[in-house]
Formats: sequence, C-alpha cells, structure tokens
Amino acid sequence: MALPMVAIVGRPNVGKSTLFNRVVGQRISIVEDVPGVTRDRIYAKTDWNGREFHVIDTGGIEISGADEMANLIRVQAQLAIDEADVIVFLVDGRAGLTEADREVAEMLRRSRKPVVLGVNKLDHPKHHPAAYEFYELGFGDPIPLSSEHGGGTGDLLDEVVRLLPPGDDDLYDEDVIRAALIGRPNVGKSSLINALLGQERVMVSDVAGTTRDAIDSPLESDGQRYVLIDTAGLRRRGKVYENIERYSVLRALRAIERTDVALIVLDGGEGITEQDKRVAGYAVEAGRACAFLVNKWDVVEKDDKTAHQFEKRIRDEFPFMRWAPVLFVSAKTRQRVHRILPLAREVAENHAMRIATSTFNTVLQDAAASVPPPSDRGRRLKLLYGTQVAVKPPTFALFVNDSELMHFSYERYLENRLRQAFGFEGTPIRLLIRTRS
Ligand code: GDP
Ligand code: GDP
Repeated sequence: MALPMVAIVGRPNVGKSTLFNRVVGQRISIVEDVPGVTRDRIYAKTDWNGREFHVIDTGGIEISGADEMANLIRVQAQLAIDEADVIVFLVDGRAGLTEADREVAEMLRRSRKPVVLGVNKLDHPKHHPAAYEFYELGFGDPIPLSSEHGGGTGDLLDEVVRLLPPGDDDLYDEDVIRAALIGRPNVGKSSLINALLGQERVMVSDVAGTTRDAIDSPLESDGQRYVLIDTAGLRRRGKVYENIERYSVLRALRAIERTDVALIVLDGGEGITEQDKRVAGYAVEAGRACAFLVNKWDVVEKDDKTAHQFEKRIRDEFPFMRWAPVLFVSAKTRQRVHRILPLAREVAENHAMRIATSTFNTVLQDAAASVPPPSDRGRRLKLLYGTQVAVKPPTFALFVNDSELMHFSYERYLENRLRQAFGFEGTPIRLLIRTRS
C-alpha cells in the first residue's frame, strides 16, 4: 500500500525542480483543489511503465537550521538516504564535476542505497560525451539528460523503476483498522500513542521533532484489532533536523498513504496553524476517514463554552471537513484517551459502509422531491439512477440526463441529504456525476 519513494538530490541549480516537474508532468497536486490549503510542489505521485511511486525534490525542503550551503546539501542528501528507496543524483553536465558533487556522492555511496546518476543540461546529443567525466563518481553509467527538453528522462525513469523494491503487498488483514496520528511536530502524537499503548514504548522529548523511527504498533481493544501508524519518526541527528516543517509534512503524507483513519492531532493550547490545514487537506484528498483530536486539553483554561468555541474554530478553519468528529483529549492526564479507539472504529466503519442501491435511490428521489434539481435555459437536471461503486471512502455514481446541468451547490445539497440519511460521520464521500443519454 505504501508507494516507494524516489528522491532527487544534487547541489542547487543543477535542475532538480525542472526534472521533478518533467517527471510528474502537469499532474495536479493532491491538495490543489482543497480550499485553504497551499499547493505543495515538492512531492507528487507519478508512474512509469505501470509502476507508481512518489517523487520528492529535496531541493524544495526548507531547512531553517542549515546555514551554509554545503550543510544544506548534506542535510537534503541525508533526508533522501533516510527516506528514499531510490535516489536520483543529479549533476550539471555543463558545469562539470565539482567538489560538492563529490561530497554528495561519497554520502550516497556509503548509504548503499540504489542511486541513478543523471547528468543534466546536455540538451543536444553532441554534448553527451560530457557525461563521461562523471563515471569517476562510481555509480555506473551516467545518464545524459535534458530536463528542460525531456531528452534522456525516459532512460532515467527506466533505470529508476528497475531499481524500485518489489511491490509491497498489504501488510495487514482487511479487518485490522489502520489509524495514523498525524499533525505537526510537538502536538503530542507520540505522547498519545504512548497513552494508547499504555506503556512507555517510544521516547518522548521536549524538543520538537526528536523521536525515533516510524513504528507500527499493533494492538487490540474490545475485540477489534488496530495498527497505530506513528508518523513522527525523525531520528535525533542534530540541530538541523529541528523545525523541518516540510519534512514533517512529508512524514504525514507517507502515513496518510498507508492508513484508513487519519487522527489529526491539534494542540489545544496553541490553536490551529497553516500546517495543520495542509496536513488535513492531504488526508481528505486521499479519501481517508478523519477525526480531530484536540490534545493538551489539560493546559487550556476552560469554562463551559470553551470546547464549543474551539470546535467552531475548527469548523471555520477546516470548512472542507465539517463531517469530521472532534474529541478533546489530554495525553498527560489521559482525559478521554479511552475514547480515541472507539472513535477510530466508528469512523472506519462509516468509511467502509455499503449502501444498498434501492435505499440509495429512495434517498435520492426524496431529495429531488423536496428540492428540485437546477435547470438551465429551460432544461432541468434529472437524477436518473445511482449506485455505490466503491468503499473507503464511499463513492457513488450518479447518472443524470446531462452532467453539465449539475451545480456545485446542488451537489453539496445531495451530499448533505446522504449524510443525514446514512450518517457517514468521519468519512469523506464522493459523488461521480455521469451523463446517461
Ligand atoms: P534546482 O535548483 O536544482 O532545482 O535547479 P532548477 O530546476 O531550478 O534549474 C536551475 C536552472 O537550470 C534553471 O534556469 C533551469 O531553466 C536550468 N535548467 C534545468 N534543466 C536544464 C536543462 O536540461 N538544460 C538547460 N539548458 N537548462 C536547464
Ligand atoms: P509529537 O512531536 O507530536 O510526537 O509530540 P510529543 O508527544 O513528543 O509531545 C511534545 C510535548 O508536548 C512533550 O513535551 C509532551 O510532554 C507534551 N505533551 C504531549 N501531550 C500533552 C498533553 O496532553 N498535555 C500537556 N500538558 N503536554 C503534553
């Protein structure tokens, strides 16, 4: 289920982001059409010869602790070594081999990760001999590339795909609920996992972003099996790893890939940030079941309205997920921690819900009877027939006389009616509007 990761590394200006854009094409970033969420262009899913994988442009990772350029490149290379299954090492064929290239090469060689060496900016075959110089880096045949014009990128991707690990089949049974705690550093994800596991299984520290390897923790509660997918996973490697916001988003993305339920952890004491919205947007776009856990509720000064006000703020800041339940918890005092797994189970069940076609059509017809579908220049939309075509999330095909007549607002209305009828708390639902003439 987790897709392999390919990282592009190399010193600045060799053409990493040009290559990234070339490789992922004009694919729409998964968060692009989630309102209020910034588009992220350093990470995308793509495929080549039928293999899907993620690509990350390490040059786009902001690393505030890395002051000098050399340090920055080293950190980016290290992130690639830690995270990637295959590394694309990009060099500039016009500039020739530099000391910085040699340093990165040394790190990559020591890591023993598979590396594909691309020699970029060789726009014309007559320039290709410039690639020979790079044999000395010791990564086999350098591949001459023109990221700008596309030359050689097919050869590069062939090699990348050849080196990808074999497909990773689903690790867990269907009846195991996978739940990931996602959120920015320091909101209390590992503390909550500790509280859930009932033991100090993972190290917790006061410094943002210092934790251990990602670990899946299986557990059973009330006869239901779960796997908690931990996302923090940053190794303690030194100062530069702190504050790597983009990097923690990346970890969240990988966890979202593998999970059924995204438990979005917010810091009750600090409120909601842009990064919270970005991460939640990814979870929705990926079609995961979602719930909010407002943690550190013990530090909040409260009266009888505080929870209500905080929930209202969540509704305002996350308008695209009004259906996600909110639970106020404290990892420290364990307040309501016992309700987290039952909540995960409930949203997971809604996420996997199947609705009988006849029932679904009854609800549709009732909805159309109480609010008539929109019309345009004398033609009225007709809802002909609908049926569920997928679960996780529940996805419905809705056949109409002419899909052009559908309005966003009417779609919203139908979604609300479906939610009223069937619950669906904690899960996105999808309506595919199809013309049947
Ligand atoms: P990054 O810093 O490694 O991400 O590099 P960029 O992708 O931003 O590219 C740096 C510069 O090199 C830009 O001006 C690109 O237009 C240019 N460039 C990238 N790839 C090629 C290429 O294949 N041929 C040529 N001639 N220029 C390129
Ligand atoms: P992570 O980076 O999201 O995994 O966050 P951690 O679990 O490492 O917690 C970050 C800090 O917040 C640590 O100092 C925790 O002790 C503290 N913390 C976590 N949960 C709570 C809570 O419910 N209440 C309070 N007061 N502190 C908490």
